[in-house]
Amino acid sequence: MPELPFIQVLTENLDRGVRERTIARVRLHSPSLLKTFEPPLPAIQGRRIRGVRRIAKLVIVDLEGDLSLVLHLMRHGRVQIGPPRARGKDLALGVVLDDGREVRVVELGPKKRASVYVLETSGMAEVEPIAGLGTDPLDPGFTAERLGAMLAGEAVQLKRFLTLQRYVTGIGNAYSDEILWEAPLSPFVRADRLKPAEVRTLHAAIAATMRRALEEHRRHFAAELPTREPLELLRVHRHGGEPCPRCGTPIAEVAYAEKETYYCPACQTGGKVYADRRMSRLLK
Ligand SMILES: [Zn+2]
Repeated sequence: MPELPFIQVLTENLDRGVRERTIARVRLHSPSLLKTFEPPLPAIQGRRIRGVRRIAKLVIVDLEGDLSLVLHLMRHGRVQIGPPRARGKDLALGVVLDDGREVRVVELGPKKRASVYVLETSGMAEVEPIAGLGTDPLDPGFTAERLGAMLAGEAVQLKRFLTLQRYVTGIGNAYSDEILWEAPLSPFVRADRLKPAEVRTLHAAIAATMRRALEEHRRHFAAELPTREPLELLRVHRHGGEPCPRCGTPIAEVAYAEKETYYCPACQTGGKVYADRRMSRLLK
């Protein structure tokens, strides 16, 4: 699933491409995409785009007259911009601009999970999918003290803690691995058992990893809208079996709750290699 750096670059580049344009017409190709009914989708037609920004992993298109179009791309949703397209199995939503170009939401893959919301901008923070979201790791308000308070109440493994959007937003399966490798900390320790020094280490790793990833994504995609997470920008996630960039030990991979976790046994878990639970289930 696209995470903070990918979505941030997407919103920055989309903003440059569509700001101050007016929406000429909108076409919903995949009815299940739309999660709100009031205000209705056609209400976005005829409105000028004030700008595009990111909240957590959401793409927010602000329109004049207190309306916002909110896109949650989930795993396979992508945004494209180009000449209008009439059909295609992947086509979910088409927004044609006054200059003739079309901003499209497409969704690859068999399961359609992406969603679109039309919300009043002023009341947006109180409703789905924005209500209940935690702090952005790039926000100056995200301090080690705040993180310590968040961790204290959660008896879940650290990897899972990082991906729960109610504490820190924008981090998913890939960047939680990158952050814990950077720290280095074990993905499997309980969040509420971290010592104060480890909380500071984790906070610094979150900030450093997300800032560096964002800079790398900006360089990689330049003015393009991102379509694919570049594997070469990840150090350990999806690099199982390859040498740890820090110590050379092969990166281990374990599946937990349908998610793959990648870690360095030497740097992060004191030499311990965890059994793949999918495999142990199969072997029973
Ligand atoms: Zn290592």
